[in-house]
This record gives sequence, structure tokens and C-alpha cells, in this order.
Amino acid sequence: MLLVIMITFYPGPSKVYPQVADYAAEAVRLGIVSLNHRSAGFMEVIEETVRLLHEKLAIPADYHVAFVSSATECWEIVTQSLTAETSLHPFSGAFGKKWAEYAYRIKPPVNLSEADVLCLVQNETSNGTQVSMTSLAQFRREFSGLIAVDAVSSMAGITLDWSLADVWFASVQKCFGLPAGLAVLIYSPAALRRAEAIGENAHYNSLLFIHENFARFQTPYTPNGLGIYLLMRVLQQVPSIADVDVMTKKRAAEWYAFLADQSATTSGSGFNVLIDDPAVRSDTVIAVGGSEARIKAIKTAAQQAGILLGNGYGDWKNTTFRIANFPAITDGEIDQLRHFLQAFR
Ligand SMILES: *Cc1c(COP(=O)(O)O)cnc(C)c1O
Repeated sequence: MLLVIMITFYPGPSKVYPQVADYAAEAVRLGIVSLNHRSAGFMEVIEETVRLLHEKLAIPADYHVAFVSSATECWEIVTQSLTAETSLHPFSGAFGKKWAEYAYRIKPPVNLSEADVLCLVQNETSNGTQVSMTSLAQFRREFSGLIAVDAVSSMAGITLDWSLADVWFASVQKCFGLPAGLAVLIYSPAALRRAEAIGENAHYNSLLFIHENFARFQTPYTPNGLGIYLLMRVLQQVPSIADVDVMTKKRAAEWYAFLADQSATTSGSGFNVLIDDPAVRSDTVIAVGGSEARIKAIKTAAQQAGILLGNGYGDWKNTTFRIANFPAITDGEIDQLRHFLQAFR
């Protein structure tokens, strides 16, 4: 059965920019997907995509960019190539927990007082919380080691202060509005120096090996050429991050105000934002809580209305739904969801 979804608010995989259909056809027509990844033509695509990331996302010139397959791969790269002893993982949700589990399987936390990498999830997609740049600045002041940030569901959606961490990464199926299978890995000169000091070279995706290849706009293995091309084309189309940030934050404020208006009454109707403290609420993923029965009913009714809401995740699987506030979503789609929620009440 072919499932046709009219509009999606799923926080990953999420709505792709509609232009991606044309860009994909173009990549095939132009032969991009058949180019050898060590050919001049393909290296130009990589070089231009890296340049556009620096330009559109305002990434400092001395921070390096590489492409890998997923954020999960980035979690392992941070552990294998950048962690000498062990890493610290203060987390508040399912993705942060998973990252800690993956890291500790590779480097068990035998001596946490010697931790040399601090791992933070800037935007916790599972429960709609975020670490503000102010909090990140505080971590930066207090922790002398490397800081690695998972910004999977916020990068390309809000402004990030790159200088506050040494490693940043995101897969592209969230705020970038692209199909899954590609991740952007950004690392500072300090991170590169640390990788050199550790000298870890045992993996196909060891950071030093990746870096060596990307210095020539190549990759250690045959990369997701289609994904990289689509990223380049989408970056050409999107505004600068400063403008995207204004739109995202305005929409987030409107969502939270709307949901406050709809908040649950004693009769059990209405919705409640899962996170009470406005200071830690995410701008890009909004988690809405309710009884299991009510959450189930609303997701079903939404689907019948042609709207896909995000399921809950991890501990909040059955008692929340999530609304992605990603740039590829249009004002018209947001209006449609608001009307639906008002009518459902
Ligand atoms: C989606 C997500 C991931 C996982 O991304 P993959 O591309 O599946 O590896 C990791 N962290 C966060 C915060 C996410 O939202």
C-alpha cells in the first residue's frame, strides 16, 4: 500500500524541501550520482558544499567540515578518535542516554574524574528540551577538555555559537530538510590537535583519516554523493542562519503561546506542553503531553485529516506527541495543524 501523507510534523525523518525532488532528478540527469568520488567534478561538489555550510551557517573559517553517514556515527567518532580517557554525558532524554551508552561500550567509564570530553545534546529531540547558548557558555567556562555537541535537531534551524564547543554534528533529516543518510561533522582546530595527540588510526572513520581525505575534498569511502549534492542545492536556496533563526524562534513562540491557550482543563480536554520551564523548551521540537488515550486519539484523528504528528519517544512514547518546527515546514501547514488542534479540542 502506498501511504500518502499530506503534511508531516514528524521530527525526523521530517519534511524535505519540495525542491529536493527536482534536485534529485537533476543529480541523475547531470550524472553527478555516477561520478567517481575522486574525480575533479565530485571534489568540486564537496568543496562547494563545505563552502556553503561555512557561509550559510556562519561557521568560523578555521572550523573543519566533513561528511559522514549519520549522527550515530559521529557519536562513535567522538569516542574512538577524540576521547583519551573517558567522556561525561549529562543528559535529559533518550538521545543523550543512547549517546552515553554507545560511548561507554567503546570506552567504559572507569575513571570519570579523568574525563576529557564533555558530550552534550543541544536539542533533545525526545522530549523537546534544549541547552541554551548561555548554559553552553557556562559549561565552556567550567570544563577544560573538549566539548562535543549533538545538534542534530537544531543545526540549520537556529543560530549556534560554534566557539562554545569543539565538535558539532547533525544528520540532515531534521532541520536541513533532506532525506536521511548523511551527517555534517564540524570540528575545531583544538579538536584536530587532540585527534593528532591521541593518534587513533584504527578505523575507516578515524577522524585523522577523515580529515586527511577532506583536506583534498575526498572521502575515505564512497560517500553519499546524492545526499551531498542535495545538501549543496538546498544550501544554495536557504537564507542565512540569522534569518532562519528569527523565523524559527518566532514560530516557536507562537506555538508555545497557542498551546498555552489550549492548555488542559479539569474536564481533560486541551493539551499541555511537556516541559514546564520556558527557559529549557526547544525552539525546533515541541513535545505535547497528555493521557495515553488522548494522545492516541489525537494522533489517529490527525492522520485521518492528512497530518502526521511525531510519536512520543523513549520514556514519553505513549504520553506525548511531537511537533517539528523545522524550516522546511510552511506557514500554511502550521495554520492547518493549528486549526486541526482547535477543532479537536
Ligand atoms: C535523530 C537524532 C539522532 C540520530 O540521528 P541518526 O542520523 O539516526 O544517527 C541523534 N541525536 C539526536 C538529538 C537526534 O534527534
